[in-house]
Amino acid sequence: MMPSKDPSSCGSRSESTGSASSAKILRSNAARLLQDDVKPKRITILGATGTIGRSTLKLIEAHPDRFEVETLTASDNAAELATLARRFGARRAVIANPDKYRELQSLLSGSTVSAEAGAEALEEAAASRVAVVMSAIVGIAGLKPTLAAIRAGQTVALANKESLVCAGSLMMEEVSRHGATLLPVDSEHNGVFQLLSPELVPAITSITLTASGGPFRSWTTEQMKRVTPAEAVKHPNWSMGAKISVDSATLMNKGLELIEAQQLFHIAPEKLGVLIHPQSIIHCLVHLKDGSVLSQMSHPDMITPIACALAWPQRISAPIKPLDLAEIGSLTFEQPDEMRFPALRLARKAMEAGGSAPCVLNAANEIAVKRFLAGEIGFLDIAKIVERTLETTDNTQLRSMGDVLAADSSARSNAERL
Ligand code: NAD
Ligand code: MG
Repeated sequence: MMPSKDPSSCGSRSESTGSASSAKILRSNAARLLQDDVKPKRITILGATGTIGRSTLKLIEAHPDRFEVETLTASDNAAELATLARRFGARRAVIANPDKYRELQSLLSGSTVSAEAGAEALEEAAASRVAVVMSAIVGIAGLKPTLAAIRAGQTVALANKESLVCAGSLMMEEVSRHGATLLPVDSEHNGVFQLLSPELVPAITSITLTASGGPFRSWTTEQMKRVTPAEAVKHPNWSMGAKISVDSATLMNKGLELIEAQQLFHIAPEKLGVLIHPQSIIHCLVHLKDGSVLSQMSHPDMITPIACALAWPQRISAPIKPLDLAEIGSLTFEQPDEMRFPALRLARKAMEAGGSAPCVLNAANEIAVKRFLAGEIGFLDIAKIVERTLETTDNTQLRSMGDVLAADSSARSNAERL
């Protein structure tokens, strides 16, 4: 998907040209992908041992004739990485932590999988030509490998929202410059992506992302003071990694997703909304000027958006039961409460401020969530640390990836001090 220069292009006549042309380019990219589709697609998974990585492998396992595994990567868990690489006949396994190289090498001895380690190997693997790179590393650690894949002109299925939140329009410019294709995997964005067409773009008045509300949706602030890490990672609907589960509990996840949507769909902040929908069946709403509202529905299981992205522009079956609305019975909706969940308000402020503010927000949140999971701070301290970090860190312009890394690093040291 190709970006327009103007991030506010959805909805108004003169501004809509950018999104309409990006939708056209998306279609021609899609036609190219369709031609490539006669032979099995080779897939690289960055973050193969995580929740998204394992769901991607589950889908690949269900379609042995359609997909082949090129490279699998992980942070530290050499044993799991080696097991997965052997099981899926990967060509290469990369462990980010170089200290784990010997262990990975010995676990893979006698197999055809080549073992590699370190940040450079990770970027090389991301750039090595495949049909789709699944970007599923958690946090800003995913930025450099995702950029390497983009700069190699790959088709990137993007789960790693933090990289887009931090690098924003710079990353979208790289997508355009290198003729890469971005396929959103985050369920809400994947839903919007499924609904968008060049004809529709000028008619869009706003986009709503839904949120389950997390495990503390109906808790008072007083009750949330005593939330434990174990309670925060127990999401009512989705099964996810620890960091995104905490982000869902604070609603920071939805805040990051607003910024992700702003970048992916070139839409102005005031045209982006959030609606609490505890059943997590409807993932997004696209509002049109004639009063129509389009939505995308599926079970709260990432296998569906992953199947959509990996097979795009074709459709394939996913190992999931059909959606039965009669069985679900009722779908309910409520407004988010930004007093009880200030992270959402902070993310919206950062999105509106632009510059390095989204990157600072993300960095402070990553630090605070890590400290919360380690039992060092309380649940409500997460948003407080993010707020103070935003107040005490300069909002700078991001002209290069070096600027992004500098903003990230100064926000991290400010957040650590707090
Ligand atoms: P996870 O914690 O389960 O897995 C993270 C993966 O990244 C693991 O394979 C880990 O080894 C790897 N990793 C972690 N730190 C690394 C580092 N420093 N260098 C290299 N690799 C590293 O996370 P997840 O829940 O699978 O989420 C992955 C990404 O997808 C996140 O950005 C998340 O926001 C996004 N996402 C997840 C879901 C979901 O349902 N889990 C939904 C939408 C978006
Ligand atoms: Mg999501």
